[in-house]
Amino acid sequence: MARHLITSAIPYINGIKHLGNLVGSQLPADLFARYQRGRGHEVLYLCATDEHGTPAELAAAKAGKPVAEYCAEMHETQAEIARGFRLSFDHFGRSSSPQNHKLTQAFAARLDTAGLIEERVETQIYSRADGRYLPDRYIEGTCPNCGFESARGDQCDNCTKQLDPVDLIEPRSVISGSTDLEPRETKHLYLRQSKMRGELSDWIDSKSDWPVLTTSIARKWLNDGDGLQDRGITRDLDWGIPVKKGDADWPGMEGKVFYVWFDAPIEYIACAQEWVDAGKGTDWERWWRTDKGADDVRYTQFMGKDNVPFHTLSFPATILGSGEPWKLVDYIKSFNYLNYDGGQFSTSRGRGVFMDQALEVLPADYWRWWLLSHAPESSDAEFTWENFQQSVNKDLADVLGNFVSRVTKFCRSKFGEEVPAGGEHGDRETALIADLERRLRAYEGHMDAIEVRKAAAELRGIWVAGNEYLQDAAPWATFKTDPEAAAMQIRLALNLIRFYAVLSAPFIPDASAQLMDAMNTEDDAWPGDVAGALSVLPVGHGFSVPDVTFRKITDDEREDWQARFAGTRG
Ligand SMILES: [Zn+2]
Repeated sequence: MARHLITSAIPYINGIKHLGNLVGSQLPADLFARYQRGRGHEVLYLCATDEHGTPAELAAAKAGKPVAEYCAEMHETQAEIARGFRLSFDHFGRSSSPQNHKLTQAFAARLDTAGLIEERVETQIYSRADGRYLPDRYIEGTCPNCGFESARGDQCDNCTKQLDPVDLIEPRSVISGSTDLEPRETKHLYLRQSKMRGELSDWIDSKSDWPVLTTSIARKWLNDGDGLQDRGITRDLDWGIPVKKGDADWPGMEGKVFYVWFDAPIEYIACAQEWVDAGKGTDWERWWRTDKGADDVRYTQFMGKDNVPFHTLSFPATILGSGEPWKLVDYIKSFNYLNYDGGQFSTSRGRGVFMDQALEVLPADYWRWWLLSHAPESSDAEFTWENFQQSVNKDLADVLGNFVSRVTKFCRSKFGEEVPAGGEHGDRETALIADLERRLRAYEGHMDAIEVRKAAAELRGIWVAGNEYLQDAAPWATFKTDPEAAAMQIRLALNLIRFYAVLSAPFIPDASAQLMDAMNTEDDAWPGDVAGALSVLPVGHGFSVPDVTFRKITDDEREDWQARFAGTRG
Protein backbone atom coordinates (compact mmCIF):
# COMPACT_ATOMS: atom_id res chain seq x y z
CA MET A 1 0.00 0.00 0.00
CA ALA A 2 1.35 3.38 -1.04
CA ARG A 3 0.80 6.61 0.86
CA HIS A 4 -0.39 9.73 -0.95
CA LEU A 5 -0.34 13.22 0.48
CA ILE A 6 -2.45 15.44 -1.78
CA THR A 7 -3.08 19.18 -1.54
CA SER A 8 -4.96 21.57 -3.78
CA ALA A 9 -4.03 25.23 -3.92
CA ILE A 10 -5.90 26.94 -1.13
CA PRO A 11 -8.69 29.25 -2.33
CA TYR A 12 -8.74 32.84 -1.14
CA ILE A 13 -11.43 33.55 1.43
CA ASN A 14 -12.85 36.52 -0.42
CA GLY A 15 -15.92 35.37 -2.37
CA ILE A 16 -17.18 32.29 -4.10
CA LYS A 17 -15.03 30.69 -6.78
CA HIS A 18 -16.06 30.01 -10.36
CA LEU A 19 -15.88 26.75 -12.27
CA GLY A 20 -12.48 27.65 -13.73
CA ASN A 21 -11.03 27.87 -10.21
CA LEU A 22 -12.64 24.56 -9.34
CA VAL A 23 -11.18 22.63 -12.27
CA GLY A 24 -7.77 24.29 -11.80
CA SER A 25 -7.02 22.68 -8.46
CA GLN A 26 -9.65 21.22 -6.11
CA LEU A 27 -11.57 19.04 -8.52
CA PRO A 28 -8.65 17.19 -10.15
CA ALA A 29 -7.08 16.81 -6.69
CA ASP A 30 -10.33 15.21 -5.52
CA LEU A 31 -10.34 12.92 -8.57
CA PHE A 32 -6.82 11.76 -7.76
CA ALA A 33 -7.57 11.34 -4.05
CA ARG A 34 -10.69 9.27 -4.75
CA TYR A 35 -8.82 7.16 -7.29
CA GLN A 36 -5.92 6.39 -4.95
CA ARG A 37 -8.33 5.53 -2.14
CA GLY A 38 -10.23 3.32 -4.59
CA ARG A 39 -7.00 1.49 -5.37
CA GLY A 40 -6.67 0.76 -1.67
CA HIS A 41 -3.89 3.24 -0.93
CA GLU A 42 -3.61 5.46 2.12
CA VAL A 43 -4.51 9.06 1.27
CA LEU A 44 -4.41 12.36 3.13
CA TYR A 45 -6.12 15.02 1.03
CA LEU A 46 -5.95 18.54 2.47
CA CYS A 47 -7.27 21.90 1.48
CA ALA A 48 -7.99 25.13 3.37
CA THR A 49 -9.03 28.72 2.93
CA ASP A 50 -6.36 31.38 2.50
CA GLU A 51 -7.61 34.07 4.85
CA HIS A 52 -5.07 36.82 5.42
CA GLY A 53 -4.21 40.00 3.61
CA THR A 54 -5.79 43.28 2.57
CA PRO A 55 -8.52 41.92 0.25
CA ALA A 56 -10.05 40.03 3.20
CA GLU A 57 -9.92 43.17 5.34
CA LEU A 58 -11.60 45.24 2.65
CA ALA A 59 -14.26 42.64 1.89
CA ALA A 60 -15.08 42.43 5.58
CA ALA A 61 -15.33 46.22 5.81
CA LYS A 62 -17.66 46.23 2.81
CA ALA A 63 -19.80 43.58 4.46
CA GLY A 64 -19.80 45.63 7.67
CA LYS A 65 -18.29 42.83 9.72
CA PRO A 66 -15.16 42.29 11.79
CA VAL A 67 -12.64 40.52 9.57
CA ALA A 68 -12.39 37.43 11.79
CA GLU A 69 -16.16 37.01 11.70
CA TYR A 70 -16.28 37.57 7.95
CA CYS A 71 -13.60 34.92 7.39
CA ALA A 72 -15.32 32.40 9.65
CA GLU A 73 -18.58 32.83 7.73
CA MET A 74 -16.96 32.68 4.31
CA HIS A 75 -15.01 29.60 5.35
CA GLU A 76 -18.27 27.87 6.22
CA THR A 77 -19.80 28.99 2.92
CA GLN A 78 -16.88 27.61 0.94
CA ALA A 79 -16.91 24.40 2.97
CA GLU A 80 -20.62 23.94 2.25
CA ILE A 81 -20.10 24.39 -1.48
CA ALA A 82 -17.15 22.00 -1.40
CA ARG A 83 -19.39 19.39 0.22
CA GLY A 84 -21.94 20.07 -2.50
CA PHE A 85 -19.34 19.23 -5.14
CA ARG A 86 -18.36 16.14 -3.13
CA LEU A 87 -14.79 17.34 -2.64
CA SER A 88 -13.52 14.64 -0.32
CA PHE A 89 -11.03 16.60 1.77
CA ASP A 90 -9.81 14.76 4.81
CA HIS A 91 -9.74 18.22 6.32
CA PHE A 92 -10.67 21.68 5.07
CA GLY A 93 -8.61 23.97 7.24
CA ARG A 94 -8.03 27.68 7.69
CA SER A 95 -4.79 29.59 7.24
CA SER A 96 -5.87 31.74 10.21
CA SER A 97 -5.79 28.72 12.53
CA PRO A 98 -3.73 28.83 15.74
CA GLN A 99 -1.75 25.89 14.35
CA ASN A 100 -0.69 27.96 11.33
CA HIS A 101 0.16 30.97 13.50
CA LYS A 102 2.55 28.89 15.57
CA LEU A 103 4.08 27.04 12.64
CA THR A 104 4.60 30.17 10.53
CA GLN A 105 6.33 31.90 13.44
CA ALA A 106 8.48 28.81 13.98
CA PHE A 107 9.53 28.73 10.31
CA ALA A 108 10.46 32.43 10.45
CA ALA A 109 12.65 31.76 13.50
CA ARG A 110 14.42 28.85 11.78
CA LEU A 111 15.00 30.90 8.63
CA ASP A 112 16.39 33.75 10.71
CA THR A 113 18.77 31.41 12.52
CA ALA A 114 19.92 30.11 9.13
CA GLY A 115 20.80 33.67 8.07
CA LEU A 116 18.05 33.77 5.46
CA ILE A 117 16.06 36.70 6.85
CA GLU A 118 17.13 40.28 6.31
CA GLU A 119 15.61 43.42 7.79
CA ARG A 120 15.18 46.25 5.33
CA VAL A 121 13.90 49.76 5.76
CA GLU A 122 11.71 50.99 2.95
CA THR A 123 9.42 53.87 2.20
CA GLN A 124 5.67 53.26 1.94
CA ILE A 125 2.63 55.45 1.70
CA TYR A 126 0.92 56.06 5.02
CA SER A 127 -2.67 57.32 5.23
CA ARG A 128 -3.25 59.43 8.33
CA ALA A 129 -7.04 59.30 7.93
CA ASP A 130 -7.04 55.51 7.70
CA GLY A 131 -4.34 55.13 10.32
CA ARG A 132 -2.46 52.61 8.21
CA TYR A 133 0.01 52.01 5.44
CA LEU A 134 -1.58 51.47 2.06
CA PRO A 135 -0.54 48.67 -0.27
CA ASP A 136 0.04 49.88 -3.86
CA ARG A 137 -3.31 48.61 -5.06
CA TYR A 138 -5.14 50.70 -2.49
CA ILE A 139 -3.83 53.99 -3.72
CA GLU A 140 -5.36 55.72 -6.74
CA GLY A 141 -4.54 58.93 -8.50
CA THR A 142 -4.02 60.57 -11.87
CA CYS A 143 -1.63 58.84 -14.25
CA PRO A 144 1.44 61.00 -14.96
CA ASN A 145 1.67 59.39 -18.39
CA CYS A 146 -1.86 59.64 -19.85
CA GLY A 147 -3.86 61.70 -17.37
CA PHE A 148 -6.27 58.86 -16.53
CA GLU A 149 -7.83 59.79 -13.19
CA SER A 150 -8.20 56.33 -11.65
CA ALA A 151 -4.73 54.91 -12.11
CA ARG A 152 -3.73 52.42 -9.40
CA GLY A 153 -0.55 52.70 -7.39
CA ASP A 154 1.06 49.80 -9.24
CA GLN A 155 -0.27 50.30 -12.76
CA CYS A 156 -2.41 52.53 -14.96
CA ASP A 157 -5.29 50.49 -16.35
CA ASN A 158 -5.73 52.98 -19.18
CA CYS A 159 -2.23 53.14 -20.69
CA THR A 160 -0.83 50.02 -18.87
CA LYS A 161 2.24 51.92 -17.63
CA GLN A 162 3.82 50.37 -14.55
CA LEU A 163 3.73 52.90 -11.75
CA ASP A 164 5.06 53.57 -8.30
CA PRO A 165 2.55 55.16 -5.88
CA VAL A 166 4.80 58.20 -5.52
CA ASP A 167 4.44 58.84 -9.30
CA LEU A 168 0.69 59.45 -9.03
CA ILE A 169 -0.68 62.96 -9.26
CA GLU A 170 -3.11 63.72 -6.42
CA PRO A 171 -2.92 60.28 -4.86
CA ARG A 172 -5.79 59.21 -2.61
CA SER A 173 -6.71 56.25 -0.43
CA VAL A 174 -9.03 53.72 -2.06
CA ILE A 175 -10.34 52.88 1.39
CA SER A 176 -11.41 56.33 2.58
CA GLY A 177 -10.74 58.59 -0.39
CA SER A 178 -8.47 60.67 1.84
CA THR A 179 -5.63 62.59 0.18
CA ASP A 180 -3.86 63.04 3.48
CA LEU A 181 -1.06 60.65 2.54
CA GLU A 182 2.64 60.75 3.19
CA PRO A 183 5.65 58.55 2.54
CA ARG A 184 6.98 57.00 5.73
CA GLU A 185 9.84 54.71 6.47
CA THR A 186 8.92 51.26 7.70
CA LYS A 187 10.94 48.12 8.43
CA HIS A 188 10.23 44.77 6.85
CA LEU A 189 11.65 41.26 6.77
CA TYR A 190 12.87 39.75 3.51
CA LEU A 191 13.41 36.09 2.74
CA ARG A 192 16.80 35.87 1.04
CA GLN A 193 15.71 33.57 -1.76
CA SER A 194 18.68 34.72 -3.84
CA LYS A 195 21.01 32.88 -1.44
CA MET A 196 19.09 29.68 -2.13
CA ARG A 197 19.13 29.88 -5.89
CA GLY A 198 21.69 27.10 -6.36
CA GLU A 199 19.91 24.70 -4.04
CA LEU A 200 16.52 25.40 -5.60
CA SER A 201 17.94 25.10 -9.10
CA ASP A 202 19.45 21.68 -8.31
CA TRP A 203 16.16 20.56 -6.83
CA ILE A 204 14.17 21.65 -9.91
CA ASP A 205 16.76 19.96 -12.16
CA SER A 206 16.18 16.70 -10.26
CA LYS A 207 12.49 16.76 -11.26
CA SER A 208 12.88 15.29 -14.72
CA ASP A 209 9.37 13.81 -14.64
CA TRP A 210 7.64 17.15 -14.08
CA PRO A 211 5.61 18.73 -16.89
CA VAL A 212 7.46 21.37 -18.88
CA LEU A 213 4.70 23.86 -17.99
CA THR A 214 5.80 23.57 -14.37
CA THR A 215 9.61 23.51 -14.70
CA SER A 216 9.80 26.21 -17.36
CA ILE A 217 7.94 28.66 -15.12
CA ALA A 218 10.30 27.84 -12.23
CA ARG A 219 13.44 28.20 -14.39
CA LYS A 220 12.26 31.53 -15.72
CA TRP A 221 12.00 32.90 -12.19
CA LEU A 222 15.34 31.37 -11.22
CA ASN A 223 17.27 32.71 -14.18
CA ASP A 224 15.62 35.67 -15.85
CA GLY A 225 17.15 39.08 -15.30
CA ASP A 226 19.17 39.16 -12.10
CA GLY A 227 17.84 35.76 -11.10
CA LEU A 228 15.69 34.80 -8.15
CA GLN A 229 14.84 37.85 -6.05
CA ASP A 230 14.55 38.20 -2.29
CA ARG A 231 10.96 38.70 -1.21
CA GLY A 232 9.33 40.67 1.56
CA ILE A 233 7.54 38.40 4.02
CA THR A 234 5.93 41.02 6.27
CA ARG A 235 3.28 43.72 5.96
CA ASP A 236 1.97 46.68 7.91
CA LEU A 237 -1.51 45.26 8.48
CA ASP A 238 -3.67 44.27 11.42
CA TRP A 239 -5.16 41.08 10.03
CA GLY A 240 -2.62 38.28 9.80
CA ILE A 241 -0.10 36.28 11.75
CA PRO A 242 1.86 38.57 14.09
CA VAL A 243 5.57 38.70 13.27
CA LYS A 244 7.32 36.72 15.96
CA LYS A 245 10.51 34.72 16.17
CA GLY A 246 8.99 31.44 17.27
CA ASP A 247 7.35 32.23 20.62
CA ALA A 248 9.51 35.32 21.18
CA ASP A 249 8.89 38.90 20.14
CA TRP A 250 10.76 40.22 17.12
CA PRO A 251 12.22 43.57 18.15
CA GLY A 252 11.27 46.32 15.74
CA MET A 253 8.50 44.29 14.14
CA GLU A 254 5.76 45.02 16.64
CA GLY A 255 2.32 45.50 15.10
CA LYS A 256 3.30 43.87 11.80
CA VAL A 257 2.09 40.61 10.32
CA PHE A 258 3.53 38.05 7.94
CA TYR A 259 2.71 38.61 4.29
CA VAL A 260 -0.03 36.26 3.14
CA TRP A 261 2.15 34.51 0.53
CA PHE A 262 4.52 33.39 3.31
CA ASP A 263 1.93 31.88 5.65
CA ALA A 264 -0.53 30.45 3.09
CA PRO A 265 1.55 27.46 1.88
CA ILE A 266 2.66 26.69 5.45
CA GLU A 267 -1.04 26.03 6.03
CA TYR A 268 -0.63 22.82 4.01
CA ILE A 269 1.32 21.51 6.99
CA ALA A 270 -0.73 23.25 9.67
CA CYS A 271 -3.86 21.80 8.07
CA ALA A 272 -2.59 18.29 8.88
CA GLN A 273 -2.23 19.40 12.50
CA GLU A 274 -5.79 20.77 12.40
CA TRP A 275 -6.90 17.41 11.01
CA VAL A 276 -5.43 15.68 14.07
CA ASP A 277 -6.71 18.31 16.50
CA ALA A 278 -10.20 17.90 15.00
CA GLY A 279 -10.03 14.23 16.00
CA LYS A 280 -9.96 12.95 12.42
CA GLY A 281 -6.41 11.63 12.48
CA THR A 282 -3.81 10.62 14.99
CA ASP A 283 -0.38 11.45 13.59
CA TRP A 284 0.33 14.32 11.21
CA GLU A 285 4.11 14.05 11.40
CA ARG A 286 4.18 10.73 9.58
CA TRP A 287 2.82 12.68 6.58
CA TRP A 288 5.10 15.68 6.80
CA ARG A 289 8.34 14.81 8.60
CA THR A 290 10.77 12.58 6.77
CA ASP A 291 12.43 11.76 10.12
CA LYS A 292 9.08 10.59 11.47
CA GLY A 293 7.72 8.27 8.83
CA ALA A 294 7.02 10.51 5.82
CA ASP A 295 9.88 9.01 3.80
CA ASP A 296 7.53 6.73 1.89
CA VAL A 297 4.90 9.42 1.26
CA ARG A 298 4.34 10.61 -2.29
CA TYR A 299 3.27 14.25 -2.16
CA THR A 300 1.31 15.68 -5.10
CA GLN A 301 0.15 19.29 -5.38
CA PHE A 302 -2.57 20.61 -7.70
CA MET A 303 -2.79 24.23 -8.84
CA GLY A 304 -3.42 26.72 -11.62
CA LYS A 305 -0.35 27.87 -13.54
CA ASP A 306 -0.38 31.27 -11.81
CA ASN A 307 0.47 29.52 -8.53
CA VAL A 308 3.47 27.60 -9.86
CA PRO A 309 6.21 30.10 -8.85
CA PHE A 310 5.14 30.01 -5.20
CA HIS A 311 5.04 26.22 -5.12
CA THR A 312 8.26 25.57 -7.05
CA LEU A 313 10.37 28.30 -5.45
CA SER A 314 9.00 30.29 -2.51
CA PHE A 315 7.50 27.48 -0.44
CA PRO A 316 10.44 25.12 -1.15
CA ALA A 317 12.78 27.99 -0.14
CA THR A 318 10.94 28.15 3.19
CA ILE A 319 11.14 24.39 3.67
CA LEU A 320 14.74 23.88 2.50
CA GLY A 321 15.88 27.04 4.27
CA SER A 322 14.54 25.81 7.61
CA GLY A 323 17.09 23.00 7.55
CA GLU A 324 14.48 20.70 9.04
CA PRO A 325 13.37 17.38 7.54
CA TRP A 326 10.04 18.47 6.07
CA LYS A 327 8.50 16.60 3.18
CA LEU A 328 9.03 18.36 -0.16
CA VAL A 329 6.57 18.04 -3.02
CA ASP A 330 7.19 15.08 -5.36
CA TYR A 331 4.93 16.09 -8.23
CA ILE A 332 3.17 19.29 -9.22
CA LYS A 333 0.16 19.06 -11.49
CA SER A 334 -0.59 22.50 -12.90
CA PHE A 335 -3.45 23.64 -15.09
CA ASN A 336 -4.08 26.28 -17.71
CA TYR A 337 -7.20 28.43 -17.61
CA LEU A 338 -10.82 27.65 -18.32
CA ASN A 339 -12.55 30.41 -20.27
CA TYR A 340 -16.27 31.02 -20.35
CA ASP A 341 -18.30 31.12 -23.55
CA GLY A 342 -16.08 33.27 -25.73
CA GLY A 343 -14.44 35.29 -22.96
CA GLN A 344 -13.32 35.09 -19.37
CA PHE A 345 -15.13 34.42 -16.14
CA SER A 346 -15.67 37.75 -14.40
CA THR A 347 -16.63 38.14 -10.76
CA SER A 348 -17.28 41.87 -11.04
CA ARG A 349 -19.53 41.48 -14.10
CA GLY A 350 -21.22 38.30 -12.87
CA ARG A 351 -20.09 36.53 -16.01
CA GLY A 352 -19.86 32.74 -16.00
CA VAL A 353 -21.04 30.08 -13.60
CA PHE A 354 -19.91 30.25 -9.99
CA MET A 355 -19.78 27.23 -7.76
CA ASP A 356 -22.92 27.97 -5.75
CA GLN A 357 -24.93 28.76 -8.89
CA ALA A 358 -23.79 25.58 -10.62
CA LEU A 359 -25.27 23.45 -7.87
CA GLU A 360 -28.58 25.33 -8.08
CA VAL A 361 -28.81 24.35 -11.74
CA LEU A 362 -27.70 20.71 -11.74
CA PRO A 363 -26.25 18.16 -9.31
CA ALA A 364 -22.49 17.95 -8.84
CA ASP A 365 -21.83 14.93 -11.07
CA TYR A 366 -22.94 16.74 -14.23
CA TRP A 367 -20.40 19.47 -13.58
CA ARG A 368 -17.68 17.15 -12.38
CA TRP A 369 -17.93 15.09 -15.53
CA TRP A 370 -17.83 18.02 -17.94
CA LEU A 371 -15.09 19.89 -16.11
CA LEU A 372 -12.81 16.91 -15.69
CA SER A 373 -13.34 15.53 -19.19
CA HIS A 374 -12.47 19.01 -20.53
CA ALA A 375 -9.78 19.93 -18.01
CA PRO A 376 -7.42 22.68 -19.28
CA GLU A 377 -4.30 20.52 -19.26
CA SER A 378 -2.24 21.09 -22.39
CA SER A 379 -3.81 24.47 -23.17
CA ASP A 380 -6.60 26.76 -22.05
CA ALA A 381 -10.10 25.28 -22.43
CA GLU A 382 -13.48 26.87 -22.95
CA PHE A 383 -16.85 26.21 -21.40
CA THR A 384 -19.77 26.57 -23.77
CA TRP A 385 -23.36 25.61 -23.00
CA GLU A 386 -23.67 23.72 -26.29
CA ASN A 387 -20.68 21.58 -25.44
CA PHE A 388 -21.91 21.06 -21.89
CA GLN A 389 -25.36 19.98 -23.09
CA GLN A 390 -23.90 17.66 -25.69
CA SER A 391 -21.44 16.08 -23.29
CA VAL A 392 -24.02 15.50 -20.55
CA ASN A 393 -26.70 14.19 -22.91
CA LYS A 394 -24.39 11.91 -24.82
CA ASP A 395 -21.84 10.61 -22.34
CA LEU A 396 -23.89 10.55 -19.17
CA ALA A 397 -27.50 10.09 -20.31
CA ASP A 398 -27.23 8.18 -23.60
CA VAL A 399 -24.22 6.03 -22.86
CA LEU A 400 -24.01 5.33 -19.13
CA GLY A 401 -27.54 6.16 -17.95
CA ASN A 402 -29.24 4.39 -20.81
CA PHE A 403 -27.17 1.24 -20.35
CA VAL A 404 -28.17 0.98 -16.71
CA SER A 405 -31.80 1.66 -17.42
CA ARG A 406 -32.15 -0.85 -20.27
CA VAL A 407 -30.35 -3.65 -18.47
CA THR A 408 -32.16 -3.34 -15.14
CA LYS A 409 -35.62 -2.83 -16.64
CA PHE A 410 -35.26 -5.67 -19.11
CA CYS A 411 -34.09 -8.02 -16.36
CA ARG A 412 -36.97 -7.03 -14.10
CA SER A 413 -39.52 -7.70 -16.83
CA LYS A 414 -38.15 -11.06 -17.97
CA PHE A 415 -36.28 -12.56 -15.01
CA GLY A 416 -37.35 -10.51 -12.00
CA GLU A 417 -35.16 -8.34 -9.76
CA GLU A 418 -32.33 -10.79 -9.26
CA VAL A 419 -29.27 -11.87 -11.22
CA PRO A 420 -30.56 -14.60 -13.57
CA ALA A 421 -29.11 -18.11 -13.90
CA GLY A 422 -28.24 -20.01 -17.07
CA GLY A 423 -25.98 -19.90 -20.12
CA GLU A 424 -22.21 -19.57 -20.50
CA HIS A 425 -19.87 -16.98 -21.98
CA GLY A 426 -19.20 -17.25 -25.70
CA ASP A 427 -16.84 -15.52 -28.14
CA ARG A 428 -18.61 -12.20 -27.85
CA GLU A 429 -18.17 -12.12 -24.07
CA THR A 430 -14.54 -13.24 -24.30
CA ALA A 431 -13.83 -10.45 -26.77
CA LEU A 432 -15.58 -7.88 -24.56
CA ILE A 433 -13.61 -8.96 -21.50
CA ALA A 434 -10.31 -8.76 -23.41
CA ASP A 435 -11.23 -5.29 -24.66
CA LEU A 436 -12.18 -4.12 -21.16
CA GLU A 437 -8.98 -5.58 -19.74
CA ARG A 438 -6.93 -3.44 -22.14
CA ARG A 439 -9.03 -0.37 -21.48
CA LEU A 440 -8.96 -0.78 -17.72
CA ARG A 441 -5.16 -0.92 -17.66
CA ALA A 442 -5.00 2.15 -19.91
CA TYR A 443 -7.44 3.96 -17.61
CA GLU A 444 -5.28 3.14 -14.59
CA GLY A 445 -2.20 4.34 -16.43
CA HIS A 446 -3.78 7.71 -17.20
CA MET A 447 -5.09 8.10 -13.66
CA ASP A 448 -1.69 7.22 -12.17
CA ALA A 449 -0.08 9.82 -14.45
CA ILE A 450 -2.86 12.36 -13.65
CA GLU A 451 -3.72 12.70 -17.33
CA VAL A 452 -7.25 13.79 -16.54
CA ARG A 453 -8.70 14.18 -20.03
CA LYS A 454 -7.19 10.94 -21.26
CA ALA A 455 -8.56 9.12 -18.22
CA ALA A 456 -12.04 10.54 -18.86
CA ALA A 457 -11.86 9.50 -22.52
CA GLU A 458 -10.86 5.97 -21.56
CA LEU A 459 -13.64 5.74 -18.98
CA ARG A 460 -16.12 6.87 -21.61
CA GLY A 461 -14.67 4.18 -23.90
CA ILE A 462 -15.31 1.58 -21.20
CA TRP A 463 -18.95 2.68 -20.96
CA VAL A 464 -19.29 2.63 -24.75
CA ALA A 465 -17.87 -0.89 -24.93
CA GLY A 466 -20.69 -2.12 -22.68
CA ASN A 467 -23.30 -0.32 -24.75
CA GLU A 468 -21.97 -1.79 -27.96
CA TYR A 469 -21.96 -5.22 -26.42
CA LEU A 470 -25.57 -4.82 -25.37
CA GLN A 471 -26.57 -3.55 -28.80
CA ASP A 472 -24.76 -6.42 -30.46
CA ALA A 473 -25.87 -9.20 -28.10
CA ALA A 474 -29.45 -7.82 -28.06
CA PRO A 475 -30.76 -9.92 -25.14
CA TRP A 476 -34.32 -8.74 -25.88
CA ALA A 477 -34.05 -10.58 -29.22
CA THR A 478 -32.00 -13.49 -27.86
CA PHE A 479 -34.63 -14.06 -25.20
CA LYS A 480 -37.19 -15.13 -27.80
CA THR A 481 -35.06 -18.00 -29.11
CA ASP A 482 -32.56 -18.73 -26.31
CA PRO A 483 -33.62 -17.47 -22.86
CA GLU A 484 -30.56 -19.05 -21.21
CA ALA A 485 -28.17 -17.07 -23.41
CA ALA A 486 -30.17 -13.89 -22.71
CA ALA A 487 -29.86 -14.60 -18.98
CA MET A 488 -26.08 -14.92 -19.32
CA GLN A 489 -25.90 -11.65 -21.27
CA ILE A 490 -27.96 -9.84 -18.64
CA ARG A 491 -25.96 -11.39 -15.80
CA LEU A 492 -22.82 -10.00 -17.42
CA ALA A 493 -24.47 -6.61 -17.98
CA LEU A 494 -25.65 -6.33 -14.36
CA ASN A 495 -22.10 -7.03 -13.26
CA LEU A 496 -20.92 -4.38 -15.69
CA ILE A 497 -23.07 -1.84 -13.82
CA ARG A 498 -21.19 -2.58 -10.61
CA PHE A 499 -17.91 -2.52 -12.53
CA TYR A 500 -18.82 0.92 -13.91
CA ALA A 501 -19.81 2.18 -10.50
CA VAL A 502 -16.39 1.28 -9.09
CA LEU A 503 -14.38 2.72 -11.98
CA SER A 504 -16.49 5.88 -12.31
CA ALA A 505 -16.56 6.81 -8.62
CA PRO A 506 -13.61 9.26 -8.84
CA PHE A 507 -15.43 11.22 -11.56
CA ILE A 508 -19.10 10.91 -10.61
CA PRO A 509 -19.31 9.78 -6.97
CA ASP A 510 -23.06 10.30 -6.50
CA ALA A 511 -24.04 8.29 -9.56
CA SER A 512 -21.57 5.64 -8.51
CA ALA A 513 -23.17 5.41 -5.07
CA GLN A 514 -26.63 5.22 -6.65
CA LEU A 515 -25.56 2.32 -8.88
CA MET A 516 -23.88 0.45 -6.03
CA ASP A 517 -27.06 0.88 -4.04
CA ALA A 518 -29.23 -0.37 -6.90
CA MET A 519 -26.94 -3.36 -7.36
CA ASN A 520 -27.38 -3.97 -3.66
CA THR A 521 -23.68 -4.40 -2.96
CA GLU A 522 -20.96 -2.77 -0.91
CA ASP A 523 -18.19 -4.59 -2.74
CA ASP A 524 -16.38 -1.63 -4.28
CA ALA A 525 -13.00 -3.37 -4.58
CA TRP A 526 -10.97 -2.11 -7.50
CA PRO A 527 -11.02 -4.78 -10.24
CA GLY A 528 -7.93 -6.98 -10.52
CA ASP A 529 -8.87 -9.00 -13.58
CA VAL A 530 -11.98 -8.06 -15.49
CA ALA A 531 -13.40 -11.60 -15.71
CA GLY A 532 -13.32 -11.85 -11.92
CA ALA A 533 -14.84 -8.41 -11.50
CA LEU A 534 -17.70 -9.37 -13.80
CA SER A 535 -18.75 -12.30 -11.66
CA VAL A 536 -18.96 -10.50 -8.32
CA LEU A 537 -22.77 -10.41 -8.35
CA PRO A 538 -23.76 -14.09 -8.19
CA VAL A 539 -26.82 -15.80 -9.60
CA GLY A 540 -29.84 -15.04 -7.44
CA HIS A 541 -28.38 -11.76 -6.08
CA GLY A 542 -31.19 -9.22 -5.67
CA PHE A 543 -31.03 -5.73 -7.16
CA SER A 544 -33.40 -2.85 -7.82
CA VAL A 545 -34.04 -0.64 -10.82
CA PRO A 546 -32.55 2.79 -10.03
CA ASP A 547 -34.24 6.10 -10.73
CA VAL A 548 -32.92 7.99 -13.74
CA THR A 549 -29.16 8.23 -13.25
CA PHE A 550 -28.64 11.22 -15.55
CA ARG A 551 -31.32 13.28 -17.22
CA LYS A 552 -30.89 15.18 -20.44
CA ILE A 553 -30.50 18.94 -20.69
CA THR A 554 -33.17 20.44 -22.94
CA ASP A 555 -32.55 23.16 -25.51
CA ASP A 556 -34.79 25.52 -23.54
CA GLU A 557 -32.78 25.02 -20.38
CA ARG A 558 -29.55 25.55 -22.26
CA GLU A 559 -30.81 28.87 -23.66
CA ASP A 560 -32.13 30.00 -20.28
CA TRP A 561 -28.83 29.28 -18.56
CA GLN A 562 -26.83 30.87 -21.32
CA ALA A 563 -28.79 34.11 -20.86
CA ARG A 564 -28.77 33.92 -17.06
CA PHE A 565 -24.99 33.64 -16.75
CA ALA A 566 -23.97 35.97 -19.58
CA GLY A 567 -23.35 38.80 -17.11
CA THR A 568 -23.46 42.48 -17.86
CA ARG A 569 -20.81 43.07 -20.46
CA GLY A 570 -18.72 46.19 -19.95
ZN1 LIG B 1 -1.97 56.08 -17.85
